[in-house]
Amino acid sequence: MEKIERLLEEQIKLARYRTLIPIQNQRNGFLYIDNKKYVDFSSNDYLGLSQHPAIKKAAITAIKKFKNSTCSSRLLSGNLKLFCALEEKIANFKKKEAGLVFNSGYQANVGIISSLCSRDDVIFSDKLNHASIIDGIILSGAKFFRFRHNDLTHLEDLLKKERHKFKNSLIIVETIFSMDGDKAPLKQLVRLKEKYNSILMVDEAHATGIFGKNGTGVVEEEDLSSKIEIIMGTFSKALGCFGAYVACSKKIREYFINFCRSFIYSTALPPAIINSCLVSIELIKKEPHRRKILLENAFYLRKKLKDIGFNVIGCSQIVPVIVGEEKETINLSIKLKEKGFWVPAIRPPTVLKGSCRLRFSLNYYHKKDILDKLVDALAH
Ligand SMILES: *Cc1c(COP(=O)(O)O)cnc(C)c1O
Repeated sequence: MEKIERLLEEQIKLARYRTLIPIQNQRNGFLYIDNKKYVDFSSNDYLGLSQHPAIKKAAITAIKKFKNSTCSSRLLSGNLKLFCALEEKIANFKKKEAGLVFNSGYQANVGIISSLCSRDDVIFSDKLNHASIIDGIILSGAKFFRFRHNDLTHLEDLLKKERHKFKNSLIIVETIFSMDGDKAPLKQLVRLKEKYNSILMVDEAHATGIFGKNGTGVVEEEDLSSKIEIIMGTFSKALGCFGAYVACSKKIREYFINFCRSFIYSTALPPAIINSCLVSIELIKKEPHRRKILLENAFYLRKKLKDIGFNVIGCSQIVPVIVGEEKETINLSIKLKEKGFWVPAIRPPTVLKGSCRLRFSLNYYHKKDILDKLVDALAH
């Protein structure tokens, strides 16, 4: 097709051509590529749990006891008791009535949103919401409005103007935004969703395991679990495993089991994964020092970068440094690579034009000496 060649050439011209880099290994916060070692600031393995011995052991134990794959969807013969145990744990962890496991965060968002909403409904979505949320919205066929990032006035204007024209209304935000590393104003969002008779859905992909007294997320930190109908998150980031979940009421869980196509029409996750997810939730409870050190270090790096004049945003383990134009951002990223730091340059369409950035994803293994070296490298 002519279109394929044309679009690929366009990507090259825009310096947006994506390629896959073969990674030899990932360990202790480092990456190994072409026999070179880099500090890995691109991973979401925030707590380093993906290499935790207890998690690896759980996977090995399950693979010995069960099969390698369930080879069946949950509704056929894939629903091992392990899933029930994990879903009970999720419900407890998130202080909701029920939990449901999904095969990935992408599948969860696409399925949850498209099964909840349809043409007569309206969705209000933060402008910085993840691609999986946007795809779920598009698939749902609902009318949707994007409000400026964390802008409650803009959201309320839209609610005032549009809400009454539709049957059901859904508001969706991430609790920690993946590209800005900042928090959603959950308390005010709850007030608005109550005032305008809407359902609130939050994506805790980057918050689970890190925020809140028990590490369950920002919803816990703000004590709002009873006020938020749909709390989703992933096992693939701070929890160091794979898959995703939603915590909700029993009724909504039953609804998803009956109507959510990404849940129904996909093979159940492998037992090794489910068993490791079970252990990872325990580790979040048992090893709070990991999230404590992570957030301390993020605070430390943020301050040092600000001190040398960088435009740093956010308030989490994700530390974005706004650079501006694409070329300059890419050049910085390349220079850091030469000095042994693997830092992704984030560009459009992932972020808005002119707000290209270096996005430092901190990891439990990035101790202060490593961060000092990074700041030195950036200062030059
Ligand atoms: C990573 C991410 C997802 C997707 O989760 P996967 O398990 O990787 O498919 C969904 N939402 C947000 C905000 C994310 O950052």
